[in-house]
Amino acid sequence: ERLKKNDYLSTLNEPQREAVLYGNGPLMIIAGAGSGKTRVLTYRIAHLMENGVDPFRILSLTFTNKASGEMRHRIEGAVGTEARNIWMGTFHSVFAKILRIEARFLGYTSDFSIYDTDDSKSLLRSIIKEFNLDDKIYKANVVYNRISGAKNRLVSADDYINNAVIQADDEAAKMKEIGRIYKTYATRCFQANAMDFDDLLFNTNVLFRDFPDVLYKYQHKFQHVMVDEFQDTNVSQYLITRKLSAVHRNIVVVGDDAQSIYAFRGANIENILNFSKDFPDVQTIKLEQNYRSTGTIVSAANSVIARNKAQLEKHTFTANDEGALIDVIKAGSDNEEGRLVASAILEEKMQKALRNENFAILYRTNAQSRSFEEALRKLGIKYRIIGGQSFYQRKEIKDLLGYLRFTVNQRDEEAFKRIINLPKRGIGDTTVARITVTASENNVPIWEVVANIGNYATGRTIAPIEQFGTLIKSFKIMLEDGKDAYEVASHIAKVSGILRELYEDKTVEGLSRYENVQELLNGIKEFVDNEENEDKTLSAFLQSVSLLTNADEPDDNEDHDRVTMMTIHSAKGLEFRNVFIVGLEEDLFPSQMMLESRQDLEEERRLFYVAITRAEKKLSFSYAESRYQWGRLKMCEPSRFLLEVDPKFLNISNALRRDSEQINSPMSFVRNLGPRKATEPKPVTAATAHTPTGDFIPSDTHDLAEGDKVEHMKFGFGTVLKMEVNGTDRKATVKFDSVGEKTLLLSFAKLRII
Ligand code: ATP
Ligand code: MG
Repeated sequence: ERLKKNDYLSTLNEPQREAVLYGNGPLMIIAGAGSGKTRVLTYRIAHLMENGVDPFRILSLTFTNKASGEMRHRIEGAVGTEARNIWMGTFHSVFAKILRIEARFLGYTSDFSIYDTDDSKSLLRSIIKEFNLDDKIYKANVVYNRISGAKNRLVSADDYINNAVIQADDEAAKMKEIGRIYKTYATRCFQANAMDFDDLLFNTNVLFRDFPDVLYKYQHKFQHVMVDEFQDTNVSQYLITRKLSAVHRNIVVVGDDAQSIYAFRGANIENILNFSKDFPDVQTIKLEQNYRSTGTIVSAANSVIARNKAQLEKHTFTANDEGALIDVIKAGSDNEEGRLVASAILEEKMQKALRNENFAILYRTNAQSRSFEEALRKLGIKYRIIGGQSFYQRKEIKDLLGYLRFTVNQRDEEAFKRIINLPKRGIGDTTVARITVTASENNVPIWEVVANIGNYATGRTIAPIEQFGTLIKSFKIMLEDGKDAYEVASHIAKVSGILRELYEDKTVEGLSRYENVQELLNGIKEFVDNEENEDKTLSAFLQSVSLLTNADEPDDNEDHDRVTMMTIHSAKGLEFRNVFIVGLEEDLFPSQMMLESRQDLEEERRLFYVAITRAEKKLSFSYAESRYQWGRLKMCEPSRFLLEVDPKFLNISNALRRDSEQINSPMSFVRNLGPRKATEPKPVTAATAHTPTGDFIPSDTHDLAEGDKVEHMKFGFGTVLKMEVNGTDRKATVKFDSVGEKTLLLSFAKLRII
């Protein structure tokens, strides 16, 4: 949709217009999904610019790079290229930019590295090893989450250690140890001239706390501050925005408490409540009309979220048509779920003349994508996966980026570890550990040790390290000569041996890795050629990629007409004509891993609400009765969330048709989803099933005959008494040792012939 100058006000309803035209002072909009919150922010920025506000003085914080890109694009449509000057982006990207400008205040240089999660965990693993701690007790993952949680609550390493003392005994010892790791980790990051993701917020807070002049500068600079998806800001983010808007006090926040889905990362609904306390003169505007979805979808979403106790009162209605019922698709297995969803997409596409891009498949975890990929591929339907293993997470890409990072910043410990023995130079882990520890102990950059290795070590490994040093020196010279990012990067890719090694690997994977590296180089070339980028140095390029999230995959294909597959978390703020919410099974969604308390359950329910409200015209649910998890076949029960949707919105004929036992009316279908303790977390269901010997792989039952001995997933061993064929329906009556006679529909029963 393109905004046209001046006429956009007519495309807003009354409260939306009020919000767009709202003058100075704090404003809060807490409203339901699809009610135009993002639209209001977009139009408001355009409106401010049309009224003479300098875009350099507008700060707009969104949740994903994709969302901010879209917003900028729309504003550009209204007010032209000046829109590029708005300070717009994710919290992390905007504050990384400020930290680069002000780096020296914190003892960093402006080309500091940004450690991604892998780098952080790798560093933690080294430290845990150096401390001789048991890595089963001190798992890098767990320690990382603890440190991240602390940083997001603005707890420093010293505070963390001090807090440990007031804990119960054994917990105190562990906390102290984690505090010690935290402290060393922080020191090592600093020595490496590197910040991790959480540091981008933590250090911004430190910067504004300890350097009032710097804070003053930005407080005066930003005349207007806007925050989208306010419900998902954490304390650290909230404090930054509060400080930045303390002078002009023009802050607009929009959000929906019912869509708060990042509590596990420290997001805090309290921020919404605190906002009114911190800005007592705040105006609140309500948006109640949903423009996105059909009546059925809006009502279904409302019926689900009404079960949450913790929520602000709001009312959402829509003037849109009632629309179609929500299809419920029941599958025997995860593979069948993939096939049924793919064929439903194909059918809908044909009937309604839709495009692939009208469809989205949303799941709880990335790992679920496989069966849908396979099925879509078989039907020749193009798709793209957002998230999962991102382009920038691939080994070969990180390897080349490691070289580029170390060339720019020779203190970057994680980049160093990645490339020192790549391609192999006979430098072992012990040598590498010795170098990093030596650098850390002498409080000198790693480069200092590498470049003067003779002063720090003796023996066989000196020669290859010296060669490595010479190589890096030659790269640095290119930087100093003012070569652009592409010239330097393509030179490094060749001379370092990375390209050669991949080229010599003639396997399919090797070829694809080689192409990936070429693709990265293409990306760098594009960066250099892009007129919007004034700074074409390698350092500028690295800054631009260091904060790419999974949603920013380079489009290796210009073809945008693809089905989108992604987790519900990454679908926030987006909309699609047709949405499939898949894997609606107990323990998967709601996720067993996340379910320890009522709060957790409510968060999972909010996630379900977010998923439902992404759909414009048509929503479908699916679940499988069995799926492979961690290499074993597991029986699944339908998710409690299916029961929570008022059945009058559901179309369950498909589920009915596909069922082999008992069910014969819509209500009994719904009853058959239960019985279960309505909302309490419960143990794994596999225990209730017959435990088959080894991994249960169902047989093809095409030739099943009377007298055959079989094994069933749930009922165990039995003998076929009778076969009935009725059209395509094939039924078998089996006498089971455990439960007696059962009649099974063979297309769905999981049977193994023995
Ligand atoms: P979410 O909570 O999911 O982020 P939101 O409140 O930000 O949703 P938007 O994405 O801004 O909602 O709007 C939802 C859809 O409704 C968009 O397609 C938007 O263009 C459309 N829309 C919003 N307001 C109006 C309006 N007044 N007239 C027509 N369409 C509208
Ligand atoms: Mg929005």
